[in-house]
Amino acid sequence: MEFLESSLLELITQTSSNLPPDVRAALGMVSATETPNTQSAQALSIIATNIDMAQEEESPICQDTGMPTFIVHTPVGVNQIKIKKAIKKAVAEATKRGKLRPNSVDSLTGHNTGDNLGVETPVIHFEQWEEDDIEVKLILKGGGCENKNIQYSVPCELEHLGRADRNLEGVRKCILHAVWQAQGQGCAPGAIGVCIGSDRAHGYSLAKYELFRTLDDVNPNPVLAKLEAEIMEEANKIGVGAMGFGGKASLIGCKIMAANRLPASFFVSVAYDCWAYRRLGVKLDATTGAITKWIYRDPERAIDKMSKESGFPLTGREVVLEAPITEEQIRALKVGDVVLINGDMYTGRDAVHAYLMKNPPPVDLNGQVLYHCGPVMMKQGDRWTVKAAGPTTSSREEPYEAHVINTYGVRVVIGKGGMGQKTLDALKGFGAVYLNGIGGAAQFYARSINEVKGQYLPDFGIPEAMWHLRVENFAAIVTMDAHGNSLHADVEQETGRHLAELQKV
Ligand code: SF4
Repeated sequence: MEFLESSLLELITQTSSNLPPDVRAALGMVSATETPNTQSAQALSIIATNIDMAQEEESPICQDTGMPTFIVHTPVGVNQIKIKKAIKKAVAEATKRGKLRPNSVDSLTGHNTGDNLGVETPVIHFEQWEEDDIEVKLILKGGGCENKNIQYSVPCELEHLGRADRNLEGVRKCILHAVWQAQGQGCAPGAIGVCIGSDRAHGYSLAKYELFRTLDDVNPNPVLAKLEAEIMEEANKIGVGAMGFGGKASLIGCKIMAANRLPASFFVSVAYDCWAYRRLGVKLDATTGAITKWIYRDPERAIDKMSKESGFPLTGREVVLEAPITEEQIRALKVGDVVLINGDMYTGRDAVHAYLMKNPPPVDLNGQVLYHCGPVMMKQGDRWTVKAAGPTTSSREEPYEAHVINTYGVRVVIGKGGMGQKTLDALKGFGAVYLNGIGGAAQFYARSINEVKGQYLPDFGIPEAMWHLRVENFAAIVTMDAHGNSLHADVEQETGRHLAELQKV
């Protein structure tokens, strides 16, 4: 199997950097129907540009390359131990080359292993089959959307939809609720895999396996095919929009399977995947390990460019900010304004925020910009370069952010998905603002970064360290201002009303 490792490395690289055609087509379709000149349309345009950039550069589409999950089918007699070893080697090599972010963290110590290897990572499932080739499928699903997976034990009461019973209508309500609760935090428009039945643990696995179906296939079970079509239509009426900005584009796919269950249990398990829906597969020659065929790709069809224009469509009405930023500049901003940041910014996510609760920051954050981001970085000589750097889900920092703003004087927080009331109060009280970047637009934002000026708290590992960046025209939208307004709260309320309208009498 002399080609096995290089074939697997190619699979990982392509999965991380090149979205499959069915996902491209689905994103193209929602972009075409989104209302022009809205924030959702703007986000979709950046997403399209980012997809093109990632493919051109062979770099991660999103900086969060997730928990690599492999599904392997082998003919009887093939040595699965060898394949497992080759997968691990390929994962470590892909991480070294900046195709995967070091994402494997010891759950007890918080130590990042640095190579994506560790206890139960990557995830590998083996099955035997009666074909001659080996088949390897891979999905890279990041933490933001993984956190929006949800499991319902019916009967249950659902916000805005009332009771979900143990029947198809109850299932329908659960799935619509799952789309609604994700809002922008899972980087909408997303796709969902659903398992009706099974037990708690396997139900989640089966839901994730549904994400290996192509978005344009038709469920062979006519009952489920009808339900999938119905959900697609209804979910796109809820109004979540790209990145939760409000709009028509909420869902690009819904794939449902039904498994047998215990009489006493009725679970509906939902795996939510973001727009950066990275899954590919290969068939491998069982003797050499060479790639014989790509799955999800059509060799006859060229990969179409996604974007119509390049970069962020500027209107001239953008507000330019450069740190140190004053309270007066912040108070002049309101929800909906587009901001371009120039100059310095600092990254900080979970570990940095926890650190700042007990320790002063390693730099003066007064008037500064704090970016919720766990980048992919590579060291070339003694210089760091940014390989991918989109925003991460901000809600995880909700318990800490008010303290960070009030104690250290941060004026601008950038992330995605919005934050809660405690942060909103701090923004208003201190005079700070929250900007929503486009989640997953890791290449788009990496190109706004001119220089990595420093790395602080390196022991936290690459994604969690505090990086000092110099940026130019870093574009984001004010979604929480210093006057107590939150676009996220407004969209959640509005979409809740739309969800309630989908309740059948
Ligand atoms: S696109 Fe968003 S949800 Fe998906 S992996 Fe990237 S940051 Fe996470």
